[in-house]
Amino acid sequence: MYYYRRLPQFEYVAPGSLKEAASFLQAHPRETRVMAGGTILLHRMKERIGVKKYVMSLKAVPGLDAIDKAPGQVKIGSMVTIQTIADAPVVRRQCGLLAAACQMLGTPQIRSMGTIGGNVACNLATAEIVPVLIALDAQATLAGAKGSRTVSVEELYREVRDGEFVTEILVPVKAGQAWGYEKWAMRKRFDYATVSAAVAIAGTGRVCKDAKIALGGVTLPTRRARRAEEILKGRSLTNRLIVEAAEAAAEDARTGADIHFTAEYKKELIKVMVSRALKQAVSPGKEG
Ligand SMILES: Cc1cc2nc3c(=O)[nH]c(=O)nc-3n(C[C@H](O)[C@H](O)[C@H](O)COP(=O)(O)OP(=O)(O)OC[C@H]3O[C@@H](n4cnc5c(N)ncnc54)[C@H](O)[C@@H]3O)c2cc1C
Repeated sequence: MYYYRRLPQFEYVAPGSLKEAASFLQAHPRETRVMAGGTILLHRMKERIGVKKYVMSLKAVPGLDAIDKAPGQVKIGSMVTIQTIADAPVVRRQCGLLAAACQMLGTPQIRSMGTIGGNVACNLATAEIVPVLIALDAQATLAGAKGSRTVSVEELYREVRDGEFVTEILVPVKAGQAWGYEKWAMRKRFDYATVSAAVAIAGTGRVCKDAKIALGGVTLPTRRARRAEEILKGRSLTNRLIVEAAEAAAEDARTGADIHFTAEYKKELIKVMVSRALKQAVSPGKEG
């Protein structure tokens, strides 16, 4: 691969309000890249991938860097950094799965610059916060020239239109939800996950009323392991059932080989990650 070190020419714009940002993007939807922390965007521009005439930073737009507790949910502005989320008492208390996954993402530098908005909007199978938000049933607010609308994070990849950008992530708070998160990467946290598994379980004791399992690093768009979820519903989460569900998740995953791993190896990783995440969810002291 030919690697350029210098950024190409572009025009930098930094609107001072949501309205201004939406109007600019509406006027130049195909010529603009939105920039949050820039940890992916600038890197790719140096590689001459996806270069456009304008880079529109969201840094000067007020209100996008706040975390607020609202009835039944936690609202996280798209410009909130991954480290801020990992450290926020309200997130640790109310959405433990999200806090744990944020703490396991990348290096301290990446966590301090990278944002939740950049993670959910980057359209990469490796974006690790996406499966977590899908397991938590989170929604994303999109702003556009005609106002704003809310879509589920699971559908964001298909839903987002030219001229729209992410302003907020809404994470429902569910009492008694148990969770588990596992990530496998070549150099532990430093690297993107080869495979990650995010699990959220509703139920009493070991009996599962509802289960959400989403896999990172496997497909774009990120998918849930739906057959594995069905296997768990209404049943007691014994070790045997956990293995059965983990095997179903691995069998159903549409994963291929990459430069490091065969598809078979990745399927084995999926089985292990899902099984460990489920065991975390049923073990005491992990209730979110
Ligand atoms: C060394 C290194 C290690 C990394 N490790 C990990 C890892 O372990 N796990 C992981 O998940 N990621 C990892 N990343 C990727 C990245 O740092 C994170 O995903 C981060 O959260 C991206 O956020 P950002 O604010 O920097 O996004 P940016 O680079 O600013 O944007 C990313 C993309 O999203 C678009 N975008 C940004 N914000 C919005 C918005 N609000 N609305 C619409 N579009 C938007 C941009 O146009 C761009 O296409 C790593 C990156 C590096 C360089």
